[in-house]
Amino acid sequence: MSSIVIAVDGTAASGKGTLAKKLAAHFGFAHLDSGALYRLAALAVLEAKGDPANEADALKGAQNIDFTRAGDPAIRTDIVGKAASHVAAIPAVRAALLDFQRNFLAHPPGGGAVMDGRDIGTVICPSAAAKLYVDARLEVRARRRWSELKAMGIRRAEQDVVAELGARDAADKSRAIAPLRQAEDADLLDTSDLGIDAAFAAALALVSPKVESALKDRHRG
Ligand code: C5P
Repeated sequence: MSSIVIAVDGTAASGKGTLAKKLAAHFGFAHLDSGALYRLAALAVLEAKGDPANEADALKGAQNIDFTRAGDPAIRTDIVGKAASHVAAIPAVRAALLDFQRNFLAHPPGGGAVMDGRDIGTVICPSAAAKLYVDARLEVRARRRWSELKAMGIRRAEQDVVAELGARDAADKSRAIAPLRQAEDADLLDTSDLGIDAAFAAALALVSPKVESALKDRHRG
């Protein structure tokens, strides 16, 4: 039985993680936040006092991921986010994480999977049944991230968060390997002016017909 994949890519703090989780719950599919893998690799580098931009240090981090820490708030800080973007630009790191992601998509518990990240629809699973590219205006995303950091007890000037997110997106879009971009067959969802419920309704309207048709094909096949 082939698995049904929903790929959710997009910019930092665009809401793609929340949407991916809600889509997975809606369809009864498994969910994988691929950004957490790069964040865990970055955390391993930082804890080993390595340099996230150094190839050997970054690869060691990717090989020493502690998956039991995927829910650890320590990976959600802005410092780890920035370090994750550095390790993610290193081809050996991406290669080290490729099999894990493809295996997850090939055999997801529940027969289907939603994966969110930067290169899911373009590199990890170009044949995904449905693809979303989630974006929002930079100031809106920065305000969301600023609030999340504040809730974690991390206080930052809002203009610093704007600058950090802008720089991270620019790095993710311009890197040589697996740059962030909208796949040709991905639907664009701009969440700038949408609350969570409205964004989820819009995502569902785009994704549902494609998932339903993939489910029917699988049933027939
Ligand atoms: O989505 P999140 O902010 O957790 O991702 C952290 C960083 O990990 C991103 O800025 C990006 O550089 C990297 N990443 C990636 N490919 C993915 C997911 C995340 O390069 N599929």
